[in-house]
Amino acid sequence: MPELPEVETVRRGLLPVMEGAVIAAAAVNRPDLRWPFPPGIARRLTGARVTGLRRRSKYILADLSTSETLLIHLGMSGRMLISGAQLGSFHHAHPAPAKHDHVVLDMDNGARVTFNDARRFGAMDLMPTASAEAHPLLSVLGPEPLGNDFHEGHLAARLKGRATPIKSALLDQHLVAGLGNIYVCEVLFRAGIHPARMARDVTSLEVSRLVPIIREVLSEAIEAGGSSLKDYRQADGELGYFQHSFKVYDRAGDACTSPGCGGQVTRIVQLGRSSFFCPLCQR
Ligand SMILES: [Zn+2]
Repeated sequence: MPELPEVETVRRGLLPVMEGAVIAAAAVNRPDLRWPFPPGIARRLTGARVTGLRRRSKYILADLSTSETLLIHLGMSGRMLISGAQLGSFHHAHPAPAKHDHVVLDMDNGARVTFNDARRFGAMDLMPTASAEAHPLLSVLGPEPLGNDFHEGHLAARLKGRATPIKSALLDQHLVAGLGNIYVCEVLFRAGIHPARMARDVTSLEVSRLVPIIREVLSEAIEAGGSSLKDYRQADGELGYFQHSFKVYDRAGDACTSPGCGGQVTRIVQLGRSSFFCPLCQR
């Protein structure tokens, strides 16, 4: 499942072919993904210029010259493919239409952007740009972890007195938007905090270290995604799924990588989701 860094990588990959370009033709090949497409979506997209391509949490937002914004969510298995582009150093001929190619946007610069989603947990919606933040999927979100509204004071206030494990607290999208299971495991390892510790028992010193660690872990992954974009351009035009090495995520049984630790990465299940941690480093 794509997390914030993967979505940001997809956004950066789409930027050179979408921003400033006009959607010359839009094909929407089925009535719904996770939810029905908005009425007339193909007609409303056709002829619109993409004036900006933003990200909020795990959503990509394409602002259009028609005063509407296209919201794109990759869901579990959504993939964005670019073909036909002759911008920069890559060129991929349009592949034959594939199964699960649900939305195809032909840009006026010759690029084709294809949204392929085998499991259809993805979503697309259109809303007025002026009220985009009021969209039901966006209005519930807390601050961006890389933005200025996410800071020590905010985190401390939201953890104070909270009788839930710190792992669950950091996954709460009201507290901070876009943090998912993989990166929360990595953050807690770097912070030396056991995932099952109660949020209210995280010390103020630890809280002050968590904010920069969260930013660091996400920024490093975004950077890894950025360097992967070149490879994808050379490969098949698919964006966003890059090799990134994790210290604890999905590494149960491996030796802890902290120098001199000697511990072993352990997996537990919290709220139905796997947590990976080192029982020696994380207390
Ligand atoms: Zn360790």
